[in-house]
Amino acid sequence: MRGSTPSFLPIGPGGIIGILGGGQLGRMLSLAAAKLGLRTHVYSDKADAPALDVATLRTIAPFDDKGALTKFARSCDAITFEFENVPSAAVAFLAHEKPTHPDARALAVTQDRFAEKTFLSDLGIGTAEFARADTFAEARGALSHIGAPSILKTRHLGYDGKGQAKIVADGDLASALQALREAPAILESLVDFAFECSVVAARAIDGSFIAYDPPENLHTDHILRRSQVPARLTPAQGAQAQAIAKQIADALDYVGVLAVEFFLTKSSALLVNEIAPRVHNSGHWTIEACVVSQFEQHIRAVAGWPLGDPSRHSDAVMDNLIGADAENWRSLAGGTGALHLYGKRDIRPGLKMGHVTRLSPLGAAKPIPRD
Ligand code: AMP
Repeated sequence: MRGSTPSFLPIGPGGIIGILGGGQLGRMLSLAAAKLGLRTHVYSDKADAPALDVATLRTIAPFDDKGALTKFARSCDAITFEFENVPSAAVAFLAHEKPTHPDARALAVTQDRFAEKTFLSDLGIGTAEFARADTFAEARGALSHIGAPSILKTRHLGYDGKGQAKIVADGDLASALQALREAPAILESLVDFAFECSVVAARAIDGSFIAYDPPENLHTDHILRRSQVPARLTPAQGAQAQAIAKQIADALDYVGVLAVEFFLTKSSALLVNEIAPRVHNSGHWTIEACVVSQFEQHIRAVAGWPLGDPSRHSDAVMDNLIGADAENWRSLAGGTGALHLYGKRDIRPGLKMGHVTRLSPLGAAKPIPRD
């Protein structure tokens, strides 16, 4: 049972880490587990998911199949997940069988944009102005309080800009609500940011904490296009961002890797945009540029191992390969940088197909042109 969690740990070589979700993050977690002599059991609701190619054990079943979940849990020594839209009921159910990290509370807070922003502001952490907009009346009240320009976002199941509608003028509210199909929503002020950055960090079962150097992140069409370290933050801003990530991880009694996405406003304030309770696209460069990657760090935390050394030995630029970008795999393979392809069967617009990380010596950072 859950109460005896610590006695299961640490999980030694040969142990099995269960991963809910079969995307590229699960694939890279499985590869990192293999490096430590651990094995993975991937549970996916899709038969062609990228992580299934590299897992020791596989289950393909819906996330509400209690029989499949129970069998999965019994084969694992500890369980985690690789995407935050996994049903929290499945995580709570599995936690009765095996140590499951991050826990259902971290998932619940981060699955609901309104609960997440409320949690952050209760901690005194800056965010965009926000208000609940579950009904038309609430949305109208929120807009009269926050004003335009603002963004209406669904509270649940949003990622990569999905479930968002911009409100440029008050008259846009009705069409924005329609675009979101009148789902429960949150209205946020539009932040006039200088740039976006993030902190990828890990917290272990004993509460120890590490944070990677914050990358600067460039999005196009709401999708991460590039992450680059170092970011254009002052040392004090970088330390402040890492301290905010620690405050969040401690408040959630979090175990595993989490990412905190920030806006640096034009007046130099750090505002949190969102928390991802998992390894994160803006931390992929840690595979090549750091002693221990975010993926290994997460496996270490979930398996009850000490956290590894997050130091960065190089500057790095990570470019995502989105949709048709992956058709260039031949020239990318012959170019500079470390190429990662996720093994997705179909190339679709907006789909993350792989990434390339290019390193340069510490302190020599300059924009690296795309191949
Ligand atoms: P999200 O799905 O909330 O991570 O949003 C995806 C991207 O949309 C962010 O990385 C920003 O580039 C942009 N965005 C989201 N919320 C805001 C906001 N309140 N103000 C300005 N830009 C935003």
